[in-house]
Amino acid sequence: MWDTDKSDDLYSIKLWGSPYFSINSAGHMVVSPQGDRGGTLDLYELVESLKNRGLQLPILLRFPDILQDRLERLTASFAKAIAKYNYDGVYRGVFPIKVNQQRHIIEGIVKAGQPHNFGLEACSKPELLIALSSINDIEPLIICNGYKDRQYLETAILASKLNKKIVIVLEKLDEVCLAVQVAKELEITPLFGFRAKLNSKSKGHWSSTTGEKAKFGMSITEISRAVDILKDEGMLDSLRLLHFHIGSQISSISVIKGALREASRLYTELVKLGAPMGYLDVGGGLAVDYDGSKSNFYVSKNYNMQNYANDVVAEVSDSCKHAQVPVPTLISESGRALASHQAVLIFDVLGQSKITLEPLPEVNGEEHYIITTLRDIYANINSDNCQESFHDVVQFKEEALSAFQLGLLSLKERALAENIYWHSCFKIYQITKSMEVIPEDLQTLDQILATTYYVNLSVFQSAPDSWALDQLFPIVPIHHLDVEPTEKVTLADLTCDSDGKIDKFIDIKEDTRPLLDVHPLEVTNGQLTPRLSHKPYYLGMFLLGAYQETLGNLHNMFGRTNAVQIELVPSGYKIKHIVRGDNMNKILSYFQYDGNDLLESVRQQCEEAISNGVITLSMSQKLLNNFEQSLSRYTYLS
Ligand SMILES: *Cc1c(COP(=O)(O)O)cnc(C)c1O
Repeated sequence: MWDTDKSDDLYSIKLWGSPYFSINSAGHMVVSPQGDRGGTLDLYELVESLKNRGLQLPILLRFPDILQDRLERLTASFAKAIAKYNYDGVYRGVFPIKVNQQRHIIEGIVKAGQPHNFGLEACSKPELLIALSSINDIEPLIICNGYKDRQYLETAILASKLNKKIVIVLEKLDEVCLAVQVAKELEITPLFGFRAKLNSKSKGHWSSTTGEKAKFGMSITEISRAVDILKDEGMLDSLRLLHFHIGSQISSISVIKGALREASRLYTELVKLGAPMGYLDVGGGLAVDYDGSKSNFYVSKNYNMQNYANDVVAEVSDSCKHAQVPVPTLISESGRALASHQAVLIFDVLGQSKITLEPLPEVNGEEHYIITTLRDIYANINSDNCQESFHDVVQFKEEALSAFQLGLLSLKERALAENIYWHSCFKIYQITKSMEVIPEDLQTLDQILATTYYVNLSVFQSAPDSWALDQLFPIVPIHHLDVEPTEKVTLADLTCDSDGKIDKFIDIKEDTRPLLDVHPLEVTNGQLTPRLSHKPYYLGMFLLGAYQETLGNLHNMFGRTNAVQIELVPSGYKIKHIVRGDNMNKILSYFQYDGNDLLESVRQQCEEAISNGVITLSMSQKLLNNFEQSLSRYTYLS
């Protein structure tokens, strides 16, 4: 008997989703936005109630309570580590705005961060503007990273006269010179930091962004030169912070430790050179366990948040003790680890493409020898010859194709050849299921036979990293989890791009699996007309809150999805904000089209067609009505 525990194992839900996502007794996914401390919401019921409010799928659900919980876990982990190692300093986290710039997210972070003096990190001028306007408090830090021009520097330095603690992190030697010049002109003493290019290399997607050849930061020689510049200009007192960032999603704790050791050494040396210092900023990189495997696989991590905090505190503490230097205030710029869990995309399955086995017709008169041979192979498949039979049917299917192209096989004959081929594949697949060791070339039979589910989303908009970086996000049906999912499928999105698909899914044993276990959309019951049973069928894609919204693009003009912010309240939940997805008018305007112009152009074509007598007035009205209504509607399928 299937039960919800089996679904939990199958989709590894506890492993990647705890304490926020689980299954209830109705077989629905539930979210516990406050972790172990608060109530739960049934995701399926939530989606139904949003649909009753007129919102269409796909819908991005955001849970600010999760964001707050993540932030509190991070600050609590550092507090615990600081106590454990008797660290004589404090932790001041900052949220890197680039990870998710949505206003509601940043406002949520600032509000949740207030009790912990949690700040913001900006990497560009627009992000600086967000940071400056969002924080009006001297305690939380505003860290200014990224390449800077005069205007960026002037804005940041002038704003330090307001009620804010701003540290300008200098990434290059010419930035040092420019920053000194601007500060002198303004007659303001700013707080500076240096970004170091460490030798420690991260592995995975971002490995080329770190190490000696890193795009950002100053080498040891440059840092030494930069210290001299500040000294000569009488501004060494401004040097307060050392920063490094060796990349995002660092799966291996040993890489983090290596970087920490190198950076802490550098920190103590800067103190010895006479800089007041006081802050060590260890950047981002704190990873998220997308597949729940707790491994150093690139979508996982072999450590937890507490291990991370412990290592940061312990390494820095050791180095400072050794060098007899006071310990710094510790800063981390953890973005992914804070923002990922709070966003879930819910989408529906629109249809499927399935290999259907037509019953094989009786032999009728003389058949082409390719057909005869295929029939023969099919009839004789058994557990001893199934590997050989597979090779044979593949070969004869190809011969059928060549014969068709040469005009030697009719359309009907070729269809019959393919039908026998599929029957053979299924027969062989059934046999392999009871094999102890499946021969390698038969291992992909399940993929060859797999169904494709067409899903109502654009991978390019909603999960761009899955397309660009092979990132894996957990995908789970949000209902029917008390029933065995007997279908194995790949997902194809709405775009007309063959890359718009998902054919790698999380698997804690095999790194990835090529097919997703789902419920069949239709139950045939031996009847010819399928009875739709599991429709609508909703899937959730989880852990989407970091980077995906910003990197999402307008491929095929689908645009932003509906997004809903849901807060837990004592009586249940409250829909705090609804941000409507893009309608067609908006999407068209991104590409310099005006909906009214397009409508007018089609209207004129209709008039012409009416006067030529090729379309009736009522047809033309229907066309124009559809056109006009489309402009103000959601781009996804309803
Ligand atoms: C991107 C970035 C971060 C965020 O990294 P995460 O791995 O998401 O925590 C932090 N600091 C800098 C300088 C960055 O460029």
